[in-house]
Amino acid sequence: METKHLIAKDKFLNESIKKAAILLKKGEIVAIPTETVYGLGADATREEAVDKIYRAKGRPNDNPLIVHIGSKEQLFELVTDIPPYVEDLIDKFSPGPITYVLKSSGKVAKNVTAGLTTVGVRIPDNPVALELLRYSEIPIAAPSANISGKPSPTTAQHVLDDLEGKISAVLDGGPAKVGVESTVIDCTEAQPVVLRLGKITTDEIQQVVGNVEVASTLSDNSEKPKSPGMKYKHYAPEVPLILVKQKSQMEQVINKEKSKGSRIGLLVSASNAKQFQAEKIIVLGENEEEIAERLYNALRSFKQEEIDVVICESFPTSGVGRAVMDRIERAATSIID
Ligand code: AMP
Ligand code: MG
Repeated sequence: METKHLIAKDKFLNESIKKAAILLKKGEIVAIPTETVYGLGADATREEAVDKIYRAKGRPNDNPLIVHIGSKEQLFELVTDIPPYVEDLIDKFSPGPITYVLKSSGKVAKNVTAGLTTVGVRIPDNPVALELLRYSEIPIAAPSANISGKPSPTTAQHVLDDLEGKISAVLDGGPAKVGVESTVIDCTEAQPVVLRLGKITTDEIQQVVGNVEVASTLSDNSEKPKSPGMKYKHYAPEVPLILVKQKSQMEQVINKEKSKGSRIGLLVSASNAKQFQAEKIIVLGENEEEIAERLYNALRSFKQEEIDVVICESFPTSGVGRAVMDRIERAATSIID
């Protein structure tokens, strides 16, 4: 199939959004821009459309999808039994990079929730996505628009690199601003539980609801994680990645890999870039926001330059930095403490 590249900018904006809406209404799958990463969208009420997402991505069918909606009202149609604190969270953080897991009202197709009684819903903070959602008036199920296991896409080109020929179109709204996937929070109990770390931090959530837990499954590999996706290997670059936790060890690890004759790639902060030598050095940024925004593009870029091994330093964990380190740890082939 030919994958249409629909530019959602300037004079093409409305026309491209309309074309994407028509394809989605026909039951096709279209990649859409959001503020976190690009999503692979389908009409969440149609099982056969949603099935195309799983097939195109090669996504395990027990890993549920997040449903994107354009307004708080639409959210209330898709879920029931909403604890009172959820409205406070929505008023504070949505539209934004946060997904609420709530009891499903049964309106979305059953493969969206992978058979669970709950559904993850989110209002993305991206003008193109919001316009598409409001114009099409359909809830859009959209996991990240990458081949399962690879780093999530933050540009339309990343989507095409993974899925060209397998999806009907990509709606190109420019690069994603946040760069890591949404915070996922289970809101089915009296107290919310963070299932996946993201830009909205546990502290920020706590300030609104008083008390919040972080799921133990974020750190161990228990049999039945509450968020099924967390058990899978994620964000893995095609080149092996060594995460070095102590800065003082960087030099030694670099020299060891060099002595094997490997072509080395480095992921470092601006302040360390000049200290080391390697075939390719990527400076992720000055602060956590920049590091998050550039991380997945960097992870994808080493393959093209035939780098054998990537050595990555540890970044600060304030703000979105904690989610960044969570993703790097999941992407790492080995971690040196
Ligand atoms: P992705 O769409 O690729 O960003 O992945 C969505 C993430 O949200 C995965 O980790 C899912 O397991 C999680 N998720 C989606 N829906 C639910 C749900 N109903 N309950 C728990 N976790 C969910
Ligand atoms: Mg994903």
